[in-house]
Amino acid sequence: MNQNVLIAGGGIAGMAAGFAAARAGWRAHVFERAAEFSEVGAGVQLGPNVTRILQDWGLGDALKQAAAFPSGLHARSMVTGEVLATLPVKDAVTTYGAPYVTIHRADLHGLLLQAAEGEGASVFSDSVVQRVDASPDGVAIEVAQCGRVQQHTGAIAVAADGVWSSLRQQLLGDGLPSFTGHIAYRTLVAQADLPAHLRSQDVSVWMGARAHVVSYPVRGGDYLNVVCLTEGQLLETDAHNLQALQTWNAQKSDAQTLAELQHALRGACPTLTDLVAACHAWRLWPLCGRPAMRGAHEHAQGRMALVGDAAHPMLPYLAQGAGMAIEDAAELGVQLAHSKPADVPERLLQFAQVRWQRNARVQNRAVRNGQIFHATGPMQWGRDLGLRLLGSRVMDVPWLYGYQGNAASP
Ligand SMILES: Cc1cc2nc3c(=O)[nH]c(=O)nc-3n(C[C@H](O)[C@H](O)[C@H](O)COP(=O)(O)OP(=O)(O)OC[C@H]3O[C@@H](n4cnc5c(N)ncnc54)[C@H](O)[C@@H]3O)c2cc1C
Repeated sequence: MNQNVLIAGGGIAGMAAGFAAARAGWRAHVFERAAEFSEVGAGVQLGPNVTRILQDWGLGDALKQAAAFPSGLHARSMVTGEVLATLPVKDAVTTYGAPYVTIHRADLHGLLLQAAEGEGASVFSDSVVQRVDASPDGVAIEVAQCGRVQQHTGAIAVAADGVWSSLRQQLLGDGLPSFTGHIAYRTLVAQADLPAHLRSQDVSVWMGARAHVVSYPVRGGDYLNVVCLTEGQLLETDAHNLQALQTWNAQKSDAQTLAELQHALRGACPTLTDLVAACHAWRLWPLCGRPAMRGAHEHAQGRMALVGDAAHPMLPYLAQGAGMAIEDAAELGVQLAHSKPADVPERLLQFAQVRWQRNARVQNRAVRNGQIFHATGPMQWGRDLGLRLLGSRVMDVPWLYGYQGNAASP
């Protein structure tokens, strides 16, 4: 049997898995259906649990070039603008041994792509994985590449094909993800185009009734990433179009989006309404998900593993979806290091057992954070009091940021 690791999907999860598998000495092949690797979208926050892995992988300097390094994460009232509490994320290096960064998705993706190719992974665009067959002896995938269907064989198949994963359907057959009732509107604005009082090099979470807004710097601090998250119904046309909207790129007219945002943020303080009004080219993202993982069988079976959103899509309220995809890849690398094709089922079982509860915990905590961020009435009152009295102690998440996993360097 050959040492091929066949990876469906070249997003953050697929690229990180390709890097980790190649670094562990395997022949990694990443197949991405998009014709070009142009990760549009917006920013992501990466906690020290994730940057620690990137540093271990030798990507610390590349991260420094692309990321922004905020000093604080401020929990604010959407109505008054008051800072209720601040988590001094600049202290992450001292507390957790790695920084808390904010970065454009395209920059993170580019960094992983370059690293994966540098380790010898083969990366193919315009390649749709149509089918996977796994047996105790090996895996075979069918890939439509540049108009021709080709078969590839290997020792492992990895589904990194995102929240709408078709490989997950082949393995688990547990249906499509569903709309969570939450909608994200995302945009980027050049800090130079904002009036001075709206520019920021920190992370702010503005919490309101059934909505919140997150803003933070990306591209070395030159741009501000702004995300508005609301609860509500989708327009009928959008509800019938869920999958097409999930391209990191779905866009509506500015006037229509601004009207939807103004409605969701009614009663917000002038700073926030000014910020939203100063932004353009919003991209709409209906958040779709699944229940938290229920067992190791959802992460791997036999010679096939699921990583990233294909395995555990999550609400972005803990800012860890890409982070968990990178943690998955690190664990995959640890399991594959020094192992042979014959050991794969055992190694993937280990991988699944190490990862599933952690991912389920993060998925559940993200849901809870949403309830806290969007609280109304007495719950909102209690939240604000707790933040004022206890400050960063209620914002820090040591079990999340301090995680070392099994992810020592192979
Ligand atoms: C509003 C919002 C804010 C977020 N903020 C954060 C944050 O701050 N921090 C964080 O860590 N995470 C954040 N996330 C989550 C994070 O973006 C995702 O968890 C992460 O991008 C998932 O990566 P993935 O590679 O698993 O999936 P995707 O990015 O969806 O990649 C899947 C890839 O597979 C390809 N593909 C699909 N089917 C096939 C096929 N059959 N054959 C070949 N290729 C295929 C797709 O084209 C795609 O490129 C946020 C998400 C949202 C929506």
